[in-house]
Amino acid sequence: MEHIQVIGVQGLPLIKAGDNIAALICERVPVQDGDIISIASTINSKAKGYTKALSSFTPSERALRLAKLNGEDPRFVQAVLDASADIIMEHPFILSELSFGHIGVRAGVDQSNIEDGMVIFLPPDPMAAASEFRDEIRKILGKDVGVIITDTCGRSFRRGQTGNAIGWSGFTAIRDFRGDTDLFGHVLKITEEAVVDEIAGFANFVMGESNNGVPAVIFRNCPAWTGHDNLYFTKEEDITRKLLKKHS
Ligand code: GDP
Ligand code: MN
Ligand code: MN
Repeated sequence: MEHIQVIGVQGLPLIKAGDNIAALICERVPVQDGDIISIASTINSKAKGYTKALSSFTPSERALRLAKLNGEDPRFVQAVLDASADIIMEHPFILSELSFGHIGVRAGVDQSNIEDGMVIFLPPDPMAAASEFRDEIRKILGKDVGVIITDTCGRSFRRGQTGNAIGWSGFTAIRDFRGDTDLFGHVLKITEEAVVDEIAGFANFVMGESNNGVPAVIFRNCPAWTGHDNLYFTKEEDITRKLLKKHS
């Protein structure tokens, strides 16, 4: 097996609405067939204009109540409520479900890496965004790549944020080991590996969180995998969600 290469894309400008991120990446790195390109959701959202001025939000009663409860700007809380399909938890921070199935702190609404007084929303359909990006690379270079849209997320049980995949295209989210045999011939019954999150996690490490200016990371020579795309638990399966809803 060839060594896996990990290439942080250097020298990208500050992204603004209307920018063609695929073209900007292709100008800087010789993208190859089979590459996996991870893109921070932040720049996808900036390019697509999923940003708003904080001053454009008029807080509702609920936003005012939660802002007071959690010590946050009511306009920011309103932005979070607007981005949420469902609120799983209100305090000590808002935990939201987004319409595409992702559950994230403050609905993934960010105030970092953008001008003061602005907020960045997650892409409303990150699967479509990943697929669109993949098509764009094919159009520009004629290359077939895989794409992962990432966001930095908190998690249960452990301190520290990691990169998660919120959209992907070109492969399945999960590598399914069920039915395989281990080194001792035992049949694996439950092992499903969330490959897109593992790659997103390493991409996030290369990106950094602050002023690194590396919003895209390319993985080369990754072995292929097969599995399925059911990354999100259904409401019936998700015991954490059920418990949090019961107690909120
Ligand atoms: P998120 O994880 O998608 O919320 O994105 P972050 O705000 O953590 O940014 C991830 C990486 O992209 C960091 O290295 C940022 O410095 C970088 N970044 C964010 N926005 C831009 C941009 O517009 N241009 C460039 N070149 N880098 C950016
Ligand atoms: Mn983010
Ligand atoms: Mn981040």
